[in-house]
Amino acid sequence: MTHPIHLYGSPVDPTRLTLLVCVSMDKYIESVYNRVVAKDPDQKVFHQAALEVLESLEPAIKKYPKYEEFSILERITEPERIIQFRVPWKDKDGKIQVNRGYRIQFNSAIGPYKGGLRLHPTVNQGVLKFLGFEQIFKNSLTTLPMGGAKGGSDFDPKGKTDAEVEGFCESFMLELYRHIGQFIDIPAGDIGVGGREIGYLYGAYRKITNHHGTGVLTGKGGGWGGSLIRPEATGYGCVYFVQEMLKTKKEDLKGKTVCISGSGNVAQYATEKCIQLGAKVISSSDSTGWIHDPTGITQEKLEWVMDLKNNRRGRIKEYADHFNVDYSSTGSPWSLKCDIALPCATQNEVDAKEAKALVDNGVMAVGEGANMPTVPEGVEIFLENKILYGPGKAANAGGVSVSGLEMAQNSQRFFWTREEVDAKLHQIMQNIHANAYKTSEIFGVKGNLVVGANIAGFMKVANAMIDQGHGA
Ligand code: NDP
Repeated sequence: MTHPIHLYGSPVDPTRLTLLVCVSMDKYIESVYNRVVAKDPDQKVFHQAALEVLESLEPAIKKYPKYEEFSILERITEPERIIQFRVPWKDKDGKIQVNRGYRIQFNSAIGPYKGGLRLHPTVNQGVLKFLGFEQIFKNSLTTLPMGGAKGGSDFDPKGKTDAEVEGFCESFMLELYRHIGQFIDIPAGDIGVGGREIGYLYGAYRKITNHHGTGVLTGKGGGWGGSLIRPEATGYGCVYFVQEMLKTKKEDLKGKTVCISGSGNVAQYATEKCIQLGAKVISSSDSTGWIHDPTGITQEKLEWVMDLKNNRRGRIKEYADHFNVDYSSTGSPWSLKCDIALPCATQNEVDAKEAKALVDNGVMAVGEGANMPTVPEGVEIFLENKILYGPGKAANAGGVSVSGLEMAQNSQRFFWTREEVDAKLHQIMQNIHANAYKTSEIFGVKGNLVVGANIAGFMKVANAMIDQGHGA
């Protein structure tokens, strides 16, 4: 693999963690972090996510001793339930293949478990624990009543026939159906799970249960229970969030140059919203490389990308061949000069060197469409240089927000118009920004949205856990 993205394992230098933990960390937080590492020493990406949250909660932990008294951090870093199962399916040659399926039901203090399903060869328990953990705080920030979860499999949909993907989804649901429900756990899409996969999963659920329970999955098709704007929600929401950050500097997106990574669901609609708001998007990528289109990706070119990725399931290199622009299978779009960077592919896709290059090239704002796309050293570089930085759990919360709105519409047996859903999404993203910003101010780090988002998301869940007793 030659592309930009480094992940799979931990990019975090363990020495740095030890230093951070020993030199500057609150004793209680340090003990919880050490416990997380000792319990599952191989789950590096989960340690990274836990450390990022735990470190930033310090002001709240100091201000409110009840969180330590009620062992909230020990409880919140431990999933309520982990389900792991075998997923056998037949490939196109009739041979039985076996993958591993998971659902991590992390925290249900404020609502039923909610979070996407990821199908990617790198999926394992540690990756899903990181994603499920992030989801707790993200869902809390949306203000909707949703707990945190994540699931998926190490199945790789890339290069598979439709029939193989359908067979896999059916087999996956044959186990998952007994663990989900509109008041229990409501999965959705993530990497490798789009409209096609949700359709197969929902069809299998309906056949197994003889139950048209639309509230059991979100991201459904418009004709069978889905919400308008759900496909667009994460990308649009991320750009709405960036608009709010820019407003604090009396800036907007018009005329700005934007670099975007990824070319999947989130990247596509982040690109679309930037174009609508008058910005120029100059990059796109996938796991094999990235393109640089200095004249800007127009709506027409974007529709070509959507067809390439969603229907023909091709590689981004074809864009370079078709539109005669530069393509590279090494390096990353973060070396380009831009005003705004939107990482929308995957975790740890922006390393410290790339963060520094963005800063040196004059980046003004970074909005994370992906989950935890910037390594911790990169985040520090953005914060030290006073770059407007929107962490994933706040900036990409638009997807799960509209999933929450899809659940609300399913419960009402009624649908809202595109304009109504978009307006609600916009309002939610404005509220998330305002809440994170205000919380950062209250805790003495005005404008640090990492601290603001983590503390705001955490306190609602932690207080609910205290209210519900020690077993919750
Ligand atoms: P998609 O599967 O639609 O697209 C993912 C994109 O990222 C593809 O272009 C893919 O390239 C690229 N990518 C994936 N893994 C890697 C890798 N290891 N290295 C390089 N490129 C990679 O997923 P989404 O757009 O739905 O998700 C993107 C990110 O946004 C993820 O971090 C996800 O967790 C997050 N997110 C998604 C939400 C949603 O509603 N969909 C909600 C909130 C967050 P290729 O096709 O070559 O694999």
